[in-house]
Amino acid sequence: MNNGNIMEIKELKKGFDNGRIKALNGINLEIKKGEFVSIIGPSGSGKSTLLNMMGALDSADEGSILVAGKDLTHTKDLSEFRSKEIGFIFQLHNLIPNLSVLENVTIPMYGNGYNSKQMDVRAMNLLKYVNLQDKASRKPTELSGGERQRVAIARALVNKPSIILADEPTGSLDSKNGHMVLENLKELHEKENVTLIMVTHDMNVAAMAERTINVLDGKVQN
Ligand code: ADP
Repeated sequence: MNNGNIMEIKELKKGFDNGRIKALNGINLEIKKGEFVSIIGPSGSGKSTLLNMMGALDSADEGSILVAGKDLTHTKDLSEFRSKEIGFIFQLHNLIPNLSVLENVTIPMYGNGYNSKQMDVRAMNLLKYVNLQDKASRKPTELSGGERQRVAIARALVNKPSIILADEPTGSLDSKNGHMVLENLKELHEKENVTLIMVTHDMNVAAMAERTINVLDGKVQN
């Protein structure tokens, strides 16, 4: 992929329930390196299934998907690909309650050749970007929902992934906190030069992106 694309998806299909449910019904899509795109569509249209394919969390039935130069349909060690290339942000942030904020952010760095000083410096820098440097030693339970989601953003970026996949990152937040989370995401996408792909059913949230991809009945609408 030397054409500037970080992702190329062709005729991707995925069924559930022995093929009775066609979650993805021939998705064709190209995403440029460094782009910020949102994927929008009603509930059940296939957005999360598509995001799971992009993050190599599930495999397709048919078609091809190339991510960061890797053909995911023919890659064996997907966990290495995932930890190197992808940062995930979900609606529920899945922070570990009895670890500090700083420790939660450094977790993905273990086993990647960093010493503890390097891990702390990198994590603190990201916590500064999301304005949580003062809360680094707190536990996630002492934070608001918006603050926890900002910790999840810092954690997703800590290994310098090439792609961030965010599934309804503001889904559980009020509009003020949701807006702050989106601002942080957008800023960090520019600063870290990371491709940002965000799933949402909310038009206002989708409008923050540079490009909107509409999904309906498992297909991209033109
Ligand atoms: P969205 O994220 O747009 O709400 P999904 O990708 O979650 O849509 O779902 C697309 C369709 O696939 C829906 O009909 C959903 O019920 C079905 N589906 C998704 N995941 C599964 C699963 N693990 N088992 C069975 N059906 C599923």
